[in-house]
Amino acid sequence: MSSKVIVTIFGASGDLAQRKLYPSLFRLYKSGNLSEHFAVIGTARRPWSKEYFESVVVDSISDLADSPEQAQEFASHFYYQSHDVQDTEHYIELCKLQNKLNEEYQAENNKLFFLSMAPQFFGTIAKHLKSEHIVDGKGFERLIVEKPFGTDLATASKLNEDLLATFDEEQIFRIDHYLGKEMIQNIFAIRFANLLFENIWNRDYIDNVQITFAEKLGVEERGGYYDQSGALRDMVQNHTLQLLSLLAMDKPKSFTKENIRAEKVKVFERLVQPSEDDLKRLFIRGQYKSGKVNGKKYISYRSEPNVNAESTTETFVSGAFFIDTDRFRDVPFFFRTGKRLTAKGTHVNIVFKQMNSIFGEPLKPNILTIYIQPTEGFSLSVNGKEVGELFNLAPISFDYRTDATASGASPDPYEKLIFDVLNNDSTNFSHWDEVKASWELIDKIEQLWSQNQVPLHEYAVGSMGPEAAFDLLAQFGARWQWQPDK
Ligand code: NAD
Repeated sequence: MSSKVIVTIFGASGDLAQRKLYPSLFRLYKSGNLSEHFAVIGTARRPWSKEYFESVVVDSISDLADSPEQAQEFASHFYYQSHDVQDTEHYIELCKLQNKLNEEYQAENNKLFFLSMAPQFFGTIAKHLKSEHIVDGKGFERLIVEKPFGTDLATASKLNEDLLATFDEEQIFRIDHYLGKEMIQNIFAIRFANLLFENIWNRDYIDNVQITFAEKLGVEERGGYYDQSGALRDMVQNHTLQLLSLLAMDKPKSFTKENIRAEKVKVFERLVQPSEDDLKRLFIRGQYKSGKVNGKKYISYRSEPNVNAESTTETFVSGAFFIDTDRFRDVPFFFRTGKRLTAKGTHVNIVFKQMNSIFGEPLKPNILTIYIQPTEGFSLSVNGKEVGELFNLAPISFDYRTDATASGASPDPYEKLIFDVLNNDSTNFSHWDEVKASWELIDKIEQLWSQNQVPLHEYAVGSMGPEAAFDLLAQFGARWQWQPDK
């Protein structure tokens, strides 16, 4: 790994930079993954001095540093430049600073750019980086971009073209922070390092797959953004489909980024494009209404700050995707995601087929649950014999769970993802072919919804979404395995 690098962060005064990027860079520094040969240029509109910027960085890592001296030593690597992304002059200054720091830190012309600001600015930044010779082909040059990557296929394609004018696909790392999560990466190990699962991970043995991204909170202060986006764009186009691709992909020839990517892309390309009838039947939208949970009152989505009082934006979405591969043809991949639900949690349930029973009583299906957050771990439920003289069956659960986030055992996704970029490993990032294929499908659903051809179901705060999301599974003789409201 090359830890010789000048990192330039666009949006250095923003929330993401302070909450995630500086702490993640600090952890990489502390673990020796960033050497003395690195510097960070922070740019944003505000006229900050280097001293002030250093104090912001020190504040953001105060819980992590062993001593104030260590925090200060780390922060001394940070430089600030007040910058308006539209102003060419500012890039000329940025280029000078970049070259100066490259000499000073002997960074071998390696450059990493992190666009931690609104995507509407990505095109102009990429263009200027090239025209003002900041990107000059010397050393490695990599670009990290934040979500959202477009709001539909047309805007995503335009954004991509803008970036491609300066960077190749191989240099672009599109962040999906879920892919940096420990348990998401563990899916590779579970699937491909265990004979037990590898041989039965297919349509002959798996009845259905259930993916849940549940949030207990409402939209909080993000109403303005969320009302334009909704759950489908915010959670399904990216996180849900990325997770699905890891669950559904075929075994790669080897564990390299090229081979993994090829198998992931295949899943996206084989996503079944539903007919109009199926779009209506298989995708459910909902919006939370006002209500009480444990005596506490909650306002409806439409009453949230910065939300249109007649908004038809969905705060809940559920549906079923199918993948036309030999491995998973006709197996439903159910998903649901929403706000103001019963509990916070990201879970995957792999529901195996029901066996014929020789015991005279029906058997429960085996279920593998992957707990992604906040708890991390797995459980596998099997049928065993109840203790006692009689031969009665009872479900037994093999359980492995940790609260790794609380104990700090798992790296923060941003730490892991920046580490990957320094290693030039794009395994845990979204490739353009994946983004393109997912928008093609999401656009179809959005289009139907915008014509108001399907109901917008209201649901109670503290529930697991509208009844229609339960009826959806019933159509297939299935039911949601994770029911924290029951
Ligand atoms: P923010 O609004 O807190 O910060 C935006 C930054 O951009 C600020 O530093 C601001 O000075 C800078 N900026 C805005 N206009 C500028 C201009 N014309 N010239 C130069 N600088 C300008 O935003 P954020 O929450 O830090 O999010 C940054 C990006 O990350 C967004 O694309 C967002 O969608 C994405 N994102 C954020 C989070 C999060 O947790 N905050 C999570 C996922 C994705």
